[in-house]
Amino acid sequence: MIANNSWKSIKTVLLDMDGTLLDLNFDNYFWQEYLPVHWGSLNNMDAVTAKMQLKAWYAKEAGTLSWYCLDFWTERLNFNVLELKADVEHLIKYRPHAETFLQRLNDSDYDVVMVTNAHEDLIKMKVEKTSIDIFFDQIISAHAIGHAKEEQSFWEKLHTKIPFNRDETLLIDDNLTVLRAAREFGIKNLFTIAKPDSQNPEQETAEFDVIHSFQDLDF
Ligand SMILES: [Mg+2]
Repeated sequence: MIANNSWKSIKTVLLDMDGTLLDLNFDNYFWQEYLPVHWGSLNNMDAVTAKMQLKAWYAKEAGTLSWYCLDFWTERLNFNVLELKADVEHLIKYRPHAETFLQRLNDSDYDVVMVTNAHEDLIKMKVEKTSIDIFFDQIISAHAIGHAKEEQSFWEKLHTKIPFNRDETLLIDDNLTVLRAAREFGIKNLFTIAKPDSQNPEQETAEFDVIHSFQDLDF
């Protein structure tokens, strides 16, 4: 349980989307299973070889804006990645109790801002599927900022766009590298997510306060 006294000083709530509010299974399944099989079949490659090749390419781009950029992968892989994503859009789902949590936040006085590394086209797809945009004062994509959330430059530029006080801001993000970058920037209140992907075990989160269920958040 995360006590409500830790919420007393909060004015701005920054929320990640994928793996925090929405099930990361959509993204993981797409990149690790569905896309490799499709790309392999286009290039006369078996699924195992395609997965190995792509894994190496993914690792090279991890934590950069390119990794999150559909245009980058569309060019690199030579087919329309967004179109392929639409094949599995039935996997786009809220994490348990995320919608109720967002509604509660929305009914409160907090400034609620989505900060996501997701590409704008992908945000659009997810909004069409979930109407998640209705809960936010603002939605900010790292692609509009020009840097991934893993980079200090993201936080510096974000701070010039929206006036938040670092002591009065809470960030909830399943990505520990992102949380470390936000901590370095000085954001004081940081929570991570125990189980970003409904089909995978809990992640190792010792470094940060962890949310097991949004129902535990008492504010
Ligand atoms: Mg995430």
